[in-house]
Amino acid sequence: MSIHPLPAGQPKVAVIGGGWAGLAAAEALAGQAEVTLFEAGKTLGGRARTVAADSNGFDFLDNGQHLLVGAYRQCLALLARAGVAEADAFVRLPLTWHMADGVQFQAARLPSPWHLLLGVLGGKGAAWGEKTALLRQMRALQQWHRRQQQGGADVDVAQWLRQHGVSQKWQQQFWQPLVWGSLNTDLGQASTARLANVLADGVWRERAHSDMLIATGDLQQSWVAPVAAWVQKQGVAVHTGTRIGTLRLAGESDQIWVDEHPFARVIVAVAPYHVGALLPPQTPPEFQAALNALCYRAITTVYLRYPQALPLPHAIIGLANGTAQWLIARGALGGNAQEVAAVVSLSDQYGTLSNEEWIARVHQDLLRLYPHLPPPVAGRTITEKRATIESRPDMTPIPQAWLRSQGVYLAGDYIHPRYPATLEAAVQSGQMAAAALLADWQQRPVAEIKRL
Ligand SMILES: Cc1cc2nc3c(=O)[nH]c(=O)nc-3n(C[C@H](O)[C@H](O)[C@H](O)COP(=O)(O)OP(=O)(O)OC[C@H]3O[C@@H](n4cnc5c(N)ncnc54)[C@H](O)[C@@H]3O)c2cc1C
Repeated sequence: MSIHPLPAGQPKVAVIGGGWAGLAAAEALAGQAEVTLFEAGKTLGGRARTVAADSNGFDFLDNGQHLLVGAYRQCLALLARAGVAEADAFVRLPLTWHMADGVQFQAARLPSPWHLLLGVLGGKGAAWGEKTALLRQMRALQQWHRRQQQGGADVDVAQWLRQHGVSQKWQQQFWQPLVWGSLNTDLGQASTARLANVLADGVWRERAHSDMLIATGDLQQSWVAPVAAWVQKQGVAVHTGTRIGTLRLAGESDQIWVDEHPFARVIVAVAPYHVGALLPPQTPPEFQAALNALCYRAITTVYLRYPQALPLPHAIIGLANGTAQWLIARGALGGNAQEVAAVVSLSDQYGTLSNEEWIARVHQDLLRLYPHLPPPVAGRTITEKRATIESRPDMTPIPQAWLRSQGVYLAGDYIHPRYPATLEAAVQSGQMAAAALLADWQQRPVAEIKRL
């Protein structure tokens, strides 16, 4: 096989899917390729979007309450390039672990690791010995992570906690809410390696990485609209309301047909459950098998409005023993103090509940904290049944070599090699797909590979 650079000229690239992975891929390609982005929905944003239809009197309703951390470097950098001023779009808080029914601590404003050490030791709801035990567990996880990165096997978090003799209290008050919130996976299935990757990059490395950023407005206005405008300003043609049906490989011609449009290369940035239907019939069966092996979990967000301001003491409050795991107090974010957004990870464990049943359960959670709270005047429940894939230790990496040899690249939160399915994973995966595409384009034409 001869390897030679292509003649000058930019590839014509289709990006299919306008979630965060697709937007990040399109931005990374802009200026180096002629990019067209196709999005099936009326709006961009994918699984992080505003539900525009009927806000039912609420300040706003997103499909889910999204929380970022300071370690979301690529996500935050993309927002900054799009002109989103952090101070306008987010409230940035130091890492705050405020279990309303238990342990409470806040990272100290000190460099790592002192932010965590002094934060935990200064916390409430745990005896001194329990606090030092939690710090020892963190240390053990760091050491385990180092060994695992040098080739050690991954295990599920439940097993890791058992092996390290972690008490019931810390499982309930810390590890379970942490794992459910960051991996949307149960302890018995969750990958300890991915959890440790999150902690290494998000908590242990730098204090600022552990900061929590909560959007003050709706996702559409705060993030999606500015990023969409920015991407278009870079020359990307964006077609919303355009669902792509098929990809066809055009033999030797070095073209890929995206429905009736020919492109030189394609980035498929749709959710994993939409990938299979799009791909060319020649795709090897192990690809579909790897997709079929992914397991999905739901996240439910319950929005409640009360007739009076809620006395929630922090912007984000955890419940170790509630239906909801996290309560977001809109008043503390500069919004309506009568509104709260309650997050229920792994919400499929409760079966199918009606809007009223969800409202009753979350209201019950709040009544345990504030027994005199009147009933809510309005409530709205949004369940995303396939919110994220589970992050399991036995996950088979999605085989991408054949697709890549055909000029088709995958992007999406499920592709990231280190992180659970998050916005940062989506953005990084889009950027990685764009980088691989450009590197290949500069090396050799796909038609040449196809002839081999
Ligand atoms: C309720 C909820 C809460 C969450 N909370 C957080 C959080 O707090 N922090 C965090 O970091 N992450 C959170 N996440 C995860 C985060 O939203 C996702 O990881 C991220 O949005 C995935 O982006 P993506 O681009 O990979 O995929 P998607 O957002 O799914 O984007 C794929 C896009 O492709 C489009 N599409 C599909 N098929 C086609 C087709 N044939 N043609 C054209 N377009 C097509 C879809 O319409 C969609 O817009 C949450 C997710 C949910 C659902």
